[in-house]
Amino acid sequence: MGEHQNRRGELIVLSGPSGVGKSTVIAELLSARPDIHFSVSFTTRAPRVGEQDGVNYNFVSREEFERMIRDGELLEYAEYVGNYYGTSLKVIREQLDRGVDVLLDIEVQGAAHVKEKCPEAVLIFLIPPSIEELSRRLRGRHTDGEDAIALRLDKAREECRECPRYDYLVVNDTVVSAARQIQSILEAEGCRTRKRLHLAAGFYDGKNG
Ligand code: 5GP
Repeated sequence: MGEHQNRRGELIVLSGPSGVGKSTVIAELLSARPDIHFSVSFTTRAPRVGEQDGVNYNFVSREEFERMIRDGELLEYAEYVGNYYGTSLKVIREQLDRGVDVLLDIEVQGAAHVKEKCPEAVLIFLIPPSIEELSRRLRGRHTDGEDAIALRLDKAREECRECPRYDYLVVNDTVVSAARQIQSILEAEGCRTRKRLHLAAGFYDGKNG
């Protein structure tokens, strides 16, 4: 029997405070694991310079987003800093059923909803090496003033308070090491006994002892 027989895809959730470098770590991870499907979320926020509709996000109106909520089209959604963000249920389900691993980049409330609905999802929290380093990274972007940076740091502290709910904690010391740790987590998750019992089925009669 093949290792991947009837294998359902892994649902992987990655969260972390704004400025931690999630997108860069995700890009590194996806270049090493191009078989992972990155879930493109729906959002009501305006595109930033360089962002493409359908690539970074599916940009929709508030009316359209609220229709999607009403029609049960979202696996999870949350309101974050005044905008809606949500994950399409249909796309995720299709990929997982085909045996494809799916990666969600979502904030902490959405992650908690995913864990409730899909207890087997693997939740990974990415933290910066220190709050000082996060502050340095936010300043280095030159996109926010001091007030906005202070708000983001407060939000980061609030988000980090949720990290005990996650299965794994990865420190984004360097992008390469963070992406490598995530790959190791996924490899170990794939070796869980409950996911591979079929590999041992021929070796025993199914009874313990
Ligand atoms: P940004 O506006 O900086 O792209 O994203 C803001 C936050 O929204 C990030 O923490 C990101 O992980 C989160 N986010 C992006 N897509 C989704 C989603 O589909 N659902 C939820 N709950 N959060 C999301």
